[in-house]
Amino acid sequence: MAIKPTLDLTTIISRAISGMRIGERVGNLPNVESKRSRELAGRVRGAKPVVSLCPYCAVGCSTLAYVSDEGKLLDVEGNPDSPVNEGHLCPKGSAIFGLTVNDQRWTTPKYRAPYSSEWIDVTMDWALDRIAEKFKAARDATFVGIGPDGKRRNHTLGIASLGGATFGLEENYLLQKLFKSSGIVAIENQARI
Ligand code: SF4
Repeated sequence: MAIKPTLDLTTIISRAISGMRIGERVGNLPNVESKRSRELAGRVRGAKPVVSLCPYCAVGCSTLAYVSDEGKLLDVEGNPDSPVNEGHLCPKGSAIFGLTVNDQRWTTPKYRAPYSSEWIDVTMDWALDRIAEKFKAARDATFVGIGPDGKRRNHTLGIASLGGATFGLEENYLLQKLFKSSGIVAIENQARI
C-alpha cells in the first residue's frame, strides 16, 4: 500500500508564502506582477486637489480639480466631502476634464454653408456679423407689434434662447438685456431645466 505524503506541493508553497500580504497572491500561489505594473501610479498622485464646482447645472455638485506643481490641470473628480454629491458626478460632470483638456476641441469659429458637408474656418468678426444679420432678419420677419385682438404685443416668437448652465451672472444679464429689448420672450436656461 502506497504511503501518502503528509505535505503536498501546494501546501509547501502555501506555507512558504503565508507571510505575504493579501493581494500579493492569487489563492495559494504568488501573484505575478511586472516591474511596469509595480511602478504604475494614478495620474493625480502628488497633485494638489483644488475644491471647485461643476459648471453645468443647478444641482451644484462639488469637484476636486487636481493641479500639478506647474499649474497643469491633471484631472477633475467628484468631491467626497460635499454633502450635495458625496464624490459622485453625473456623465456631464464626469466629462469636465475631457472637455477642458482636449486637443480635438475646436477653438476657432467654423461655418458650414447650406447644403454643404464641409466646415470652413472663419474669423470671429465674420461669424458675429453673420449671426447679427440672421438675427435681425428673423426678428424683422416675425415681429408682432399689434396682435390679432388689437392689443399691443411688441414681441417675436420667431427666435428663442436656450442658455447653457456655464453662463455666469454677467453673461445672463447681457443675454436678457439683448433678447428682451428685441422682443424675444422665449428665454430659457439649461440650469432651470
Ligand atoms: S451637471 Fe451633473 S455633476 Fe454637474 S452639477 Fe449637475 S448633476 Fe452635478
